[in-house]
Amino acid sequence: MKKKESVIVPTPLGILKTQFGYEAFRHQQDEIIQTVLDGRDAFVLMPTGGGKSLCYQIPALIFEGVTVVVSPLIALMKDQVDALRMNGIAAAYLNSSLDFLEQDEVVARLCRGELKLLYVAPEKLFASGGAFLGVLREISVSLFAIDEAHCISQWGHDFRPEYFHLARLKKEFPEVPVIALTATADHLTQEDILEKLGLQEPRVFVSSFNRANIHYFVVPKQDSYEKLVEYLHKHKGESGILYTLSRKSTETLAARLSADGFSAKPYHAGLDTGVKDKHQELFQKDKIQIIVATIAFGMGINKSNVRFVVHMDLPKNLESYYQETGRAGRDGVRSEALLFYGSGDVMKLKRFASVEGNPEQTRIMLRKLGQMADFCELRTCRRKHLLNYFGEETPDTCASCDVCLTEYETYDATVTAQKAISAVVRLEERFGLSYVVDFLRGSKSEKIKEEHKELKTYGVGADISKEEWMRSIKELVGMGYLRQAGDQYPLLALTNKSLAVLKGETKVMLVKPISTTKVETVEEPYEEELFGALKSLRMEISQKEEVPAYVIFSDATLLELATYLPLSLDDMQRISGFGEVKTARYGETFLKCVTTYCNEHKLDSKISEKISSGRKRVRDIKPVINETKSETLRMFREGKTVPEIATVRDLTASTIENHLASFLALGEVKITDLVPQEKIGVIQKALGKNGYLPLKYLKDTLGDDYSYGEIRAVIEATKQGIIV
Ligand code: ADP
Ligand code: ZN
Repeated sequence: MKKKESVIVPTPLGILKTQFGYEAFRHQQDEIIQTVLDGRDAFVLMPTGGGKSLCYQIPALIFEGVTVVVSPLIALMKDQVDALRMNGIAAAYLNSSLDFLEQDEVVARLCRGELKLLYVAPEKLFASGGAFLGVLREISVSLFAIDEAHCISQWGHDFRPEYFHLARLKKEFPEVPVIALTATADHLTQEDILEKLGLQEPRVFVSSFNRANIHYFVVPKQDSYEKLVEYLHKHKGESGILYTLSRKSTETLAARLSADGFSAKPYHAGLDTGVKDKHQELFQKDKIQIIVATIAFGMGINKSNVRFVVHMDLPKNLESYYQETGRAGRDGVRSEALLFYGSGDVMKLKRFASVEGNPEQTRIMLRKLGQMADFCELRTCRRKHLLNYFGEETPDTCASCDVCLTEYETYDATVTAQKAISAVVRLEERFGLSYVVDFLRGSKSEKIKEEHKELKTYGVGADISKEEWMRSIKELVGMGYLRQAGDQYPLLALTNKSLAVLKGETKVMLVKPISTTKVETVEEPYEEELFGALKSLRMEISQKEEVPAYVIFSDATLLELATYLPLSLDDMQRISGFGEVKTARYGETFLKCVTTYCNEHKLDSKISEKISSGRKRVRDIKPVINETKSETLRMFREGKTVPEIATVRDLTASTIENHLASFLALGEVKITDLVPQEKIGVIQKALGKNGYLPLKYLKDTLGDDYSYGEIRAVIEATKQGIIV
């Protein structure tokens, strides 16, 4: 692990630029690399797509000798090695996919000192009674990198017995630094990894788990197939994974999609290995667009350009959801996670959740399932909820989940609430949510007892959809007008606030979504047609060279090309992903594609607009000021009051107030235009440090003198930092 003694020692940043073609480090990459270069052990917890590989690849190139990377995933090793070779880096792998001759050849190259990085499967490391370890002792090993390090821990969900032996490494090679990396480890697993590997005073690096480029959406499961098809039409030519609960449904869904003209294949543990591998490869190489899979799919896949992950059924807990959705967007390009949610799934999964003879385990599984369902029913930012669940603090909104993107409207729901409460009274607090809803809607089902069909309240809510009833009643529970009693089969019951509603003494306000276009990501414009042409070019090359397309260039790189239109090789090098070797190898070809396009379309290069740090510009999220909002503003400026504008425009006052609040950030409207000065302080006090409490709680606290609009405006202004 001595550093090179030549005069010019390459710097990590220099290597990042010349070999990998990237401009700046991400997360804590530079600090991690420095730690390893100092000869210290390190533990790195970073989300998928965060850029863990560079944390050992760059030191590998600076150290003399070879870096040995232990990885459990055979398919992934080949990819990594291909990608390194593309950048002109001497790398090889050793695992059971090679025959003996090929393995010998790799060992020979290793002994001749020709390799900078060697990827090995853990079982190979200790094979032949330690003979291979003997080889490693003969040559100079500069660093051991343990990828997917959680596989060593029995606490984790992915324990691999072969990893167990890695405990020996530190004993056999005490002087060689070890870097352990993983994307999944709770605190317990983390401690376990450090201990099992025997790391010496390791520095521990934990990155944020926020996957900012993944946008989260949950939609009702009704008509999910039709919704899916519509979604897929919008995502033509993009790669995606669809997860379903059962093996059978992967096959039926893949067949149905194929019949409807999409290229989709199933994947589950019950298929023959040959078929599975084939389907995985087709997907990996972009020869099919969609893979329909059970959760068996994903571990071994490193495809960086997965643009969407769809859950056709509810995942069983938030850990799985995070992991599965995390397979989207490893290249950092905008991607989506879509989940179809129906409460029926919760019932179905409850049956799977019970572990026979283990009530404790069953209780945990059920709790996790409940948390998953809660996530789907949220009225607050999903990203926040997800990250808080993993113990991370976040801002209250993300502007890239369906909740944050939806505009809600408050409406008077007193009558709805009265119907619901009266149903609970009539049913003597002895039934759960779904029975009460069916009862309210006058369901003809046999499940509804005959004597209940005689009651006056039966069917009084037929005009409201089942979903909306579910949502409204849950909200009534949240607001304390009803409660759910009992653990496993919660029954709806009354609270001390119920009666006042029934008697008409309390007005109940609920919220409902009115539009889903409150904000919209303002993407930097790029030439879509050119992007398509570049993808085809990449596909052609990848077929010729027999590697997956993303190994040649990531989608992120092609997107930058199609955005900044470099028209010379020098400019091209400013595009993220064009290191020296790749520029020499593919520069001309891609340049030609870009210049031809620009000539045809009479376009100039926009490379000067590329921010010089080279980082992809953070795609800013701006409120979209649509015409309807501008119209409201215009009238407001004319001196009309909120109720007046509402009447003229035939919109509710709260919608008008919403419109106006959206101009706060732009400085077009002042907070004092919307809320009298003396009220601002009081509302802020009610907000407390929580910043964002459900509006209705605030309203309840503040009382009738404060309107929803005023409260919302103060929240908005606080969030925007306009008032503190
Ligand atoms: P992980 O192993 O953490 O899932 P990878 O190491 O595979 O992530 O990196 C994900 C993608 O991000 C790869 O395409 C990689 O080349 C790219 N990448 C990593 N670090 C940087 C960086 N500093 N700048 C730009 N791209 C990067
Ligand atoms: Zn959000």
